[in-house]
Amino acid sequence: MKGNCDLEYDVVIVGAGPAGCFAARNLSKDLKVLLVDRAKLPRSKSCGGVLLEEVVELLEPYGTPDEIFSSPRNLKVEGWDWDLDLTIEDSSHYINANRDKFDEWLLSLAAQCENVDVWPETSFVSAQTDSKGSVCAVTLRNTQTVEVKTRFLVGADGATSKVRKMLGCRPPERYFTLQELIKPDDPSLVQKFIGIVHKDIDFYTWLVPKDDLLVIGTAFDAGRNDSKSRFEELKRQLETKHGIKGETVEQMRGCALLNLKSKKELCSGAGNVLLVGEAAGMVAPTTGEGISYALRSGLSCAKAISECAGNGRGDKDDLMRLYESRITPLTKRLSQQIFRHKMTERPGWRSLLYRLLPPVKVVNKR
Ligand SMILES: Cc1cc2nc3c(=O)[nH]c(=O)nc-3n(C[C@H](O)[C@H](O)[C@H](O)COP(=O)(O)OP(=O)(O)OC[C@H]3O[C@@H](n4cnc5c(N)ncnc54)[C@H](O)[C@@H]3O)c2cc1C
Repeated sequence: MKGNCDLEYDVVIVGAGPAGCFAARNLSKDLKVLLVDRAKLPRSKSCGGVLLEEVVELLEPYGTPDEIFSSPRNLKVEGWDWDLDLTIEDSSHYINANRDKFDEWLLSLAAQCENVDVWPETSFVSAQTDSKGSVCAVTLRNTQTVEVKTRFLVGADGATSKVRKMLGCRPPERYFTLQELIKPDDPSLVQKFIGIVHKDIDFYTWLVPKDDLLVIGTAFDAGRNDSKSRFEELKRQLETKHGIKGETVEQMRGCALLNLKSKKELCSGAGNVLLVGEAAGMVAPTTGEGISYALRSGLSCAKAISECAGNGRGDKDDLMRLYESRITPLTKRLSQQIFRHKMTERPGWRSLLYRLLPPVKVVNKR
């Protein structure tokens, strides 16, 4: 923790995931920024570590180090529809990342900025408003409770965002995710990013090769108490149907993932408080891909705040207008994905979708 004796900042960012780190990195260097996270940093988040190619392109100017990638670096994509008994080839491809190293590197991009202070193990507790209803200070808790004055507050605190709750904006429903890292008996069986749909799975199951290991992950509707036994059943089916089995190397901590069902569940913030990444509701409802949304919304937020603060007005209506116009392409894309996800829920519609919508192609009957 550096520089916490002066408790006045231009921007306080809650959450040092991809959205918060990238926002901090890209804010004007004239602004004094505080980035806090309740976790120890660098943190470890359960994740498939599958990146869209556009993420790698976006990050290239920052000098992406090789060690954030896993092998095979380029992931081909395949779908297994257990209900329809089909294999589906997807012509898109993804980049394979080591999520812990990826997050650590993103954090370093923020922490190396002179204008950014990073406080780990510090929780956002509440915010105070002035007579115009703008947030003017936040209460944080680390070893003690501290009040920090600020001109702008950014909620980058993920799927269970407290900043979002403070704004009175109802969060989308959530999945509860489970992941395991196994050492497969036969690594050649899974060399692609495989997505499996099946009526007994609430979302879908992903298999991602990571060097000589394999990630098995899936998501259940939150609130059920049978996730662990269903996960074990899923592993049994992987072995029976595909011969995929191996020794468990790590059982990753269960984690929340948004289940975005309507565009109305997106929330960009209010007044001088902006929401980014999953706190704003941004995660692909089709795949659970959220890193591109986190980075792009974080960047948009940084530009909107820098512009607003730079023109000296700091007007909150200007801020929301600037931010919302910048994230319009993201909200449009999410709307399309919500529609597509609804289509995939029923096997009959899914069958139609496979035939109508690129880039997928049915390659064979399993
Ligand atoms: C199992 C799983 C697999 C996934 N796989 C992929 C994948 O392969 N590819 C992909 O693109 N996306 C994936 N995602 C989604 C992706 O992880 C998220 O969308 C992305 O991390 C969102 O970034 P974020 O910065 O918005 O939030 P997060 O990464 O969730 O970061 C939020 C941060 O806020 C902190 N925080 C929360 N509350 C407080 C508080 N009160 N005070 C202070 N700090 C707080 C948390 O400690 C956390 O570090 C996956 C998600 C899960 C759960």
